[in-house]
Amino acid sequence: MGPTQFDIKDSIAVITLNSPPVNGLGHALRTAIVEGIQNAQSNDAIHAIVITGTEKAFSGGADIKEFGTSMAIAEPHLHTLIHLLETCTKPVVAAIRGVCMGGGMELALGCHYRVAHPKASLALPEIKLGLIPGAGGTQRMARVIGVEKALNFILSGDPVPAIGFKGSALIDAYFEHDFIEQAIAFAKQLVVDKKPNKKIRDIKIEYPNYESFLQFSRNTVKTVAAPYPAAVKAIDAIAAAITQPFDQGLASEREYFMQLMNTSVSRAMRYAFFAQRGTSKIADIPSDTPLREIKKVGIIGAGTMGGGIAMNFLNIGMPVIILETEQEKLDKGLGIIRANYENTVKKGKLSSEKMQQRMALIETTLDYSTLKDVDLVIEAVFEELSVKETVFKKLDEVMKPGAIFASNTSTLDMNKIANFTKRPQDVLGMHFFSPANVMQLLEVVRTEQTAKDVLATVMKLAQSIKKTPVVCRVCDGFIGNRMVEQYLRMAGFLLEQGATPPQVDKALENFGMVMGPFRMSDLAGNDIGYAIRKRRMVEQPNLKYSKFADVMCEAGRYGQKTGKGWYLYEPGNRKALPDPELDAMLVKFRADNGLTARKISSEEIVQSCIYALINEGCRILEEGIAQRASDIDIVYLTGYGFPVYRGGPLKYADEIGLYKVVQKLEQFYKETQDDFWKPAQLLHYCIAKSTSICGS
Ligand code: NAD
Repeated sequence: MGPTQFDIKDSIAVITLNSPPVNGLGHALRTAIVEGIQNAQSNDAIHAIVITGTEKAFSGGADIKEFGTSMAIAEPHLHTLIHLLETCTKPVVAAIRGVCMGGGMELALGCHYRVAHPKASLALPEIKLGLIPGAGGTQRMARVIGVEKALNFILSGDPVPAIGFKGSALIDAYFEHDFIEQAIAFAKQLVVDKKPNKKIRDIKIEYPNYESFLQFSRNTVKTVAAPYPAAVKAIDAIAAAITQPFDQGLASEREYFMQLMNTSVSRAMRYAFFAQRGTSKIADIPSDTPLREIKKVGIIGAGTMGGGIAMNFLNIGMPVIILETEQEKLDKGLGIIRANYENTVKKGKLSSEKMQQRMALIETTLDYSTLKDVDLVIEAVFEELSVKETVFKKLDEVMKPGAIFASNTSTLDMNKIANFTKRPQDVLGMHFFSPANVMQLLEVVRTEQTAKDVLATVMKLAQSIKKTPVVCRVCDGFIGNRMVEQYLRMAGFLLEQGATPPQVDKALENFGMVMGPFRMSDLAGNDIGYAIRKRRMVEQPNLKYSKFADVMCEAGRYGQKTGKGWYLYEPGNRKALPDPELDAMLVKFRADNGLTARKISSEEIVQSCIYALINEGCRILEEGIAQRASDIDIVYLTGYGFPVYRGGPLKYADEIGLYKVVQKLEQFYKETQDDFWKPAQLLHYCIAKSTSICGS
């Protein structure tokens, strides 16, 4: 079957969009719709047209495979298609089920009538790519649902069920059953009643106090969406809808859209969109690799991570069995899971019935033999190799053949862990981030021996529990923590040289990081970094660290959990308060170590810390630890609060220019003689080849 199906039911033409997976409006589909309309237009036996999609999708919008290619704007492009629908002399009805988004929504707005299933999911999500709708969406939405509602809809980009528009002129009728038959009957009735071909473009906007509303919106956007130019342009487009004739407004919208396409923010957001979808592709593993069946999961350890990990599976209705060393620990772990769900129920985001269903899926045990029928086991016990060794050896004795073994280790050698079993091909790392039931990132650690179907199975499973899985090879810290170690190391040196924790945090938060390095360390617990540094001193004695962080930990300042760290915390409050005692400790430390404080600019702070991420990220890539640059960026966007409008550390390096980055790294090397600052080979290579790290 082609991208559309053309049927005639009585005197009504039904054009069914049928271009899986979501009726993306690629060139072939656009062409087929145009042909369908022209056929219907020229056939006297046809009196009206219904355009519809599948149950799953009316249309998900532009075809992402065509993004940025000439096919995206090849004729008939979306504007042409919408114009054709709007000017068709026979009534055109959009019959909307499933998702109706972006260009799909704009197409529906060009039809004379719209009928919908109440649960159809409508959205103009362009803002999430740093854009605004560019095919009349802003102009028609403002006319059909009103200026304020349209602006909110466009600024949020989130889907709204069609029934949410009841009472507006957007949807003319809702049908829950016999959807297509009812849509056809609706079209027939239009003909019988000789209803006019309604055009949204003809609606006049009456909005007397629009200036004050627009001013209010501009002020709001300045504070809440400052780095995102699309928010301002959305307001400009709505202003155009109010003040300009329709065609002029359409031209203004187009102009703003094109301006936004050329911003670094939209480039970064579009890059991140594709990067996220790309992480599950693995070069040497075909997408049709047969998967192992996962129906039941075992979790070893009911601590901070074990409980959170278990919740991911309970949330999708998968039974979980948790093993601990003592009943008391099982009870405590279960209590935390229950309390987490109770909180969600209190917030109205989960029914108590669903909560009971989820809790009923948990089994607990102290006995390894009860794990014999699980398909996957995830170990989350103490971070000590000897403890992991005992656990994996016991598991090896009881697990059924073909079961998958995973460890949540953050730092230990996954190759060694795999070899604690007699089936290393069935072992890999699943590195969740804390809180494991919330954080989207999952580093999937592929050892030297992990079987392809094991990796493919876990990548697929990760998606079903709504994680973003990123594959990495074995190294200390994997992708994220290996990079963050250098970032924190540089932040530590800045303090020695004269900066304060609030100054460093503020500079990086202004750059866009969700949290500066010191607030982040206080949240995670400074004792974690302390333990890593102690280990480093043995493994890499030449690696330099600022010793001030150790002084602070030795004073018991572990962060939020001890009420003091880089900041001060009042009991029960997570707000980081500057601490004069810490300032005094820092001044004394500098004096004791003969260090002279100097003034450090925000620019230097950002360059020291972010360029450290870039350089280490490049090394991770050239060593083959990560598969591709965009995977590294996704780790930082989804796990470390890097601003999406900068695309991730490596995309950011491309944007500022690799030559500039290398010059700065060389300057840092000259000043510090720290080998870390020698620019990664990959940077020199890309400059020599005039290419970027992340591709165009
Ligand atoms: P935790 O101390 O909160 O929990 C560990 C649990 O394992 C405890 O309840 C303990 O009783 C149990 N345990 C210990 N030995 C056991 C054994 N032999 N059999 C069964 N249970 C045993 O620790 P956590 O923070 O949940 O960390 C667990 C693992 O996850 C570690 O490998 C850690 O490196 C990793 N990790 C932690 C974080 C984090 O932020 N906490 C993030 C990512 C990964």
